[in-house]
Amino acid sequence: MRAVRLTHWGGPPVVTEAERPSPRGEAVLVRVEAAGLCGSDLHIMDAAPDALPYRTPFTLGHEVAGRVAERGPDATGPEVGERVVVYGPWGCGRCGHCVAGADNYCDRRSALDTARTGTGAGLGRDGGLADFLLVPSGRLLLPVGALAPAQAAPLSDAGLTSYHAIAGIRPALGDPETGTASVAVIGVGGLGHLAVQILRATTSAQVLAVDVREEALALAADCGAHFGTLVRPDTAEALRRRTGGTGADAVLDFVGTSATLRLGVSAVRPGGALAVVGSGGGELLVRKPGALPPGLRISLPFWGTRTDLEQVMALARAGAVKVATERFPLSRALDAIDALRSGRVRGRAVLVPDEELLRA
Ligand code: NAD
Ligand code: ZN
Ligand code: ZN
Repeated sequence: MRAVRLTHWGGPPVVTEAERPSPRGEAVLVRVEAAGLCGSDLHIMDAAPDALPYRTPFTLGHEVAGRVAERGPDATGPEVGERVVVYGPWGCGRCGHCVAGADNYCDRRSALDTARTGTGAGLGRDGGLADFLLVPSGRLLLPVGALAPAQAAPLSDAGLTSYHAIAGIRPALGDPETGTASVAVIGVGGLGHLAVQILRATTSAQVLAVDVREEALALAADCGAHFGTLVRPDTAEALRRRTGGTGADAVLDFVGTSATLRLGVSAVRPGGALAVVGSGGGELLVRKPGALPPGLRISLPFWGTRTDLEQVMALARAGAVKVATERFPLSRALDAIDALRSGRVRGRAVLVPDEELLRA
């Protein structure tokens, strides 16, 4: 089978032949029908040696949908032929969080990091930018029903992470029906454009989009954002003006550099919420007394729970959330990576191994 493998830190990855795995024990082999390319894939391939707790080589790709191809003798869950989406954070499977379907917050994460055995599909373990993906257990698969694979795959990270981040800021937004809250979304790429739609579908908040690209602001408007602005020296003031001078009730930062964190705290209202989703490596000084807005609640959401994934898929099935996709054949993975890196992707780049599905 073909696979997009990171063979050394600093990349680029290579599109190469790899052995098709066969499922043993509880494992399930999935024939990949679509795999999204995430901003995190760039961070992973660009990482310095020893910066991440993974060993190379491994296959990238942590946003995967496909069909069950083969089941190990002890496998549970979906049957052969069933269309599934992969719940990508793979924890220990036994701690309180994993048992509750929150592998994203596995209590043994630091032990997995120390052992360098990987923490999910495409995160130190072989991922889904390939013809097939070996999933360790059927509990990590959810049936997708009628959702198209290129829609389902990005929902498992771009959609799930955005949904989970929004769940975390919800208390700052007041009454979802009658409230007049406002939320700033910084970075309207793969994650951000779905965050805008989820906010519109599940809250009455005014949505304020911020990006460095005009095309991203146009996408934000298509997704239902009420206002959009490029990053400029006066962006925080522009956001405050749009919120009657108080600042936004919540900020979702899908970039996470020091500059966007500073923008976030200067645009958020006292008692508001800042969710740092982007892994841009920025830093923010937390000090009391200090310059942060009083009562600020900062969260560092990571991916999401299985229940969050079910809920965001339900929104998509109901037509309230639609992923903007740019589809590429798997053989053109490196072009897709270049397009993402240079800011040429609208929404999510999705790799499709089967060229017939690509034409469909
Ligand atoms: P993306 O490249 O699709 O989108 C990023 C967007 O941010 C683009 O529209 C880009 O133009 C915009 N942007 C870049 N610099 C900006 C700036 N200074 N100010 C405003 N906008 C700016 O990436 P993505 O896949 O949406 O991922 C976004 C971030 O979220 C990445 O850092 C990724 O690693 C991270 N991520 C985190 C989690 C998590 O669980 N916390 C999950 C997935 C992705
Ligand atoms: Zn991701
Ligand atoms: Zn666990």
